[in-house]
Amino acid sequence: MNWLEIDKKHVWHPYNSLPSKTKLLPVNRTDKTFIYLDDGTKLIDGMSSWWSAIHGYNHPKLNEALKKQVEIMPHIMFGGLCHEKAAVLSKLLVDLTGLNSVFLCDSGSVSVEVALKTAILYQKAKGKEKYKFLALNNAYHGDTLGAMSVCDQKNSMHTVYGSYLPEHIFTKEPELGFSSDCFSSLKELEEKFEKYHNQIAGFIIEPIVQGAGGMRIYNPKYIQKVRELCTKYDILLIADEIATGFGHTGKMFACEHANIKPDIMTLGKGLTGGYMTMAAMLTTKEISDTISNSEIGVLMHGPTFMANPLACSVAIASIELLLESSWEKRVLNIEKIFSEELEVAKALPFVKDIRNIGAIGIIELTNDSYAQEIQDFCMKNGVWIRPFGKLIYSIVAYTIEENDLRKVIKTMVEAIKSIKSKR
Ligand SMILES: *Cc1c(COP(=O)(O)O)cnc(C)c1O
Repeated sequence: MNWLEIDKKHVWHPYNSLPSKTKLLPVNRTDKTFIYLDDGTKLIDGMSSWWSAIHGYNHPKLNEALKKQVEIMPHIMFGGLCHEKAAVLSKLLVDLTGLNSVFLCDSGSVSVEVALKTAILYQKAKGKEKYKFLALNNAYHGDTLGAMSVCDQKNSMHTVYGSYLPEHIFTKEPELGFSSDCFSSLKELEEKFEKYHNQIAGFIIEPIVQGAGGMRIYNPKYIQKVRELCTKYDILLIADEIATGFGHTGKMFACEHANIKPDIMTLGKGLTGGYMTMAAMLTTKEISDTISNSEIGVLMHGPTFMANPLACSVAIASIELLLESSWEKRVLNIEKIFSEELEVAKALPFVKDIRNIGAIGIIELTNDSYAQEIQDFCMKNGVWIRPFGKLIYSIVAYTIEENDLRKVIKTMVEAIKSIKSKR
């Protein structure tokens, strides 16, 4: 049987039926910021593999790090044993975030689960029974059931799971725009804190950019207020930087736009430069001490592939590569190009809003029925993007050539124009 037929018959794809209702493109290989299909088609990658491949594909330094590590130790259980690569990676993360205690796990969703557990344990250690979380409408924090329970209720189809999901508290998302006044969302935020603080263990939020739940950019002052309220009520602030981390918004971490420090941070996606599945949950010394010195005593979590040495070594190489590159200048330049090229989309029919920050550019349409058509148009014109619903967006590797980036954005704009000419 041809492998494509096997795929069709046996393999689930993300957010899909089996067999897939939409066409899947067979990828043959990747290089730099390009995807090569089976039939030889070369596509510029406008998605950087779901925000992860920040240096592009097959970077010699990252390849080398993996090859070296595989000869030494591909994997070792982390229970009762420790290894140098996990320690070196953790120290890098500690120095970058200003946090102290690192839990290395296997995917972003799992790091969110661990963050939620940590917040509950911390409150319990302090003698408080608080089992609710406060989250934002339009939030996205992952697909496992715990993570899902703090995602936007409509987007993640909460109701399908009946009474299985725990019910948390949601508040109005901050108004769109880096400089918006956030008047009504801040008002509701304060009300929610006042009303529910006795039940809330933590507030989980994607700082500055809400990703998969709506690609929404908002004012850093919203998160400053969140910090203030969390401190006031001793509620832990969990910054989910899985998507925004490692430079995507122009700062190493999006919290830096607001100059605040979270109590817990989750990292993933760009952590290994898009090579291996790995994520991290970081917290303060105060929090890990409080749990460790309490009757509870331990953080009950321990995935089989926790701190996998291959993933650790490629993450170390990726972070070193980022730090020695002029990533800030590059991301700023990408931001400038997005601003320039997206401008023309503003006046097009079907376009509701354009917005961008760092390596992220978004066109929001008025209608959600053109996603597939736009994706097909871009593919035929040598560009890989994957819109969802009304959101036509691109997140690129920091190493993308200027010409290629301009082509990605121009093609997105042309794709939207092509709708107009047909209807
Ligand atoms: C992608 C993402 C997750 C989930 O990470 P996975 O590795 O897909 O489990 C969680 N939070 C945010 C903000 C994300 O963008």
